[in-house]
Order: sequence, then structure tokens, then C-alpha cells
Amino acid sequence: MKVIADLDKCQGHGVCNMSCPEVFDLAEEDGHVMVKYDVIPVELEEGARLGVDSCPELALSIEE
Ligand code: SF4
Repeated sequence: MKVIADLDKCQGHGVCNMSCPEVFDLAEEDGHVMVKYDVIPVELEEGARLGVDSCPELALSIEE
């Protein structure tokens, strides 16, 4: 499973990071999301889904 971030939509609220800091980081310069993994480790998939669902801008999507 991969998480794709659309940085044109990301507004840097950081909700994804609060939902699952193990997967979602925020860039220091502009606060945009940074997905820590190219392929999400199986044990973090549930948290990654939570983070994707938490984004108010619909900037995150899942690729199975
Ligand atoms: S919750 Fe959405 S808009 Fe906010 S930082 Fe994460 S990806 Fe960007």
C-alpha cells in the first residue's frame, strides 16, 4: 500500500500528522505533508488509513 499526497491540495493543517505521526511528517519550510514511506509497512497501514481519512482537504489518497 502506498499513500499519495497531492501537495497542490495540502494546506499544512497537520491533522494527518496528529492522526498518525509514524507515517506523516510535516515539512519544516512550509508545513506540507511528507509521507515517510514509499511503501507503508503492514503494521502502520491502519494508522495510515486514519491519517488519509482525517485530511480535510482530501489531499491524501491510497494506492493498493
Ligand atoms: S491533513 Fe491534509 S492538508 Fe493537512 S497537512 Fe495533512 S495532507 Fe496536508
